Amino acid sequence: MSDCLFCGIIAGTIPADIVYENDAVVAFRDINPQAPTHVLVIPRTHTVDLVDAAADPARLGHVFAACKDVAAAVGLSDFRTVVNNGAGAGQTVFHLHVHLLGGRPLSWPPG
Ligand code: AMP
Ligand code: ZN
Repeated sequence: MSDCLFCGIIAGTIPADIVYENDAVVAFRDINPQAPTHVLVIPRTHTVDLVDAAADPARLGHVFAACKDVAAAVGLSDFRTVVNNGAGAGQTVFHLHVHLLGGRPLSWPPG
């Protein structure tokens, strides 16, 4: 999508600190990190959100499966993944992304 920020990062027209990529996904550092390491993992194919992604479970599987290699690329063995679905849940960029967070102890439930 031409007006999508994350499609711009995939296309290389918007700069990003890319830490990992494969045929299906791109992962780059969040510009407003919520943990010492905070990476966004996105599908190369524009997908609005998790609900949209349900139409193509394989695409969603590629995003989550890649988290293993993304975590390894940034030196994390323990990490948390978060997907905000919809504006009411805090989604601000409407290209599906998995937040991958780590680098400090992460309490549960989150405080
Ligand atoms: P969400 O609120 O779940 O939609 O997450 C969107 C995330 O994208 C936020 O954590 C932002 O800090 C991050 N973000 C926005 N613009 C950029 C950008 N140009 N490069 C990297 N991360 C970004
Ligand atoms: Zn997009």
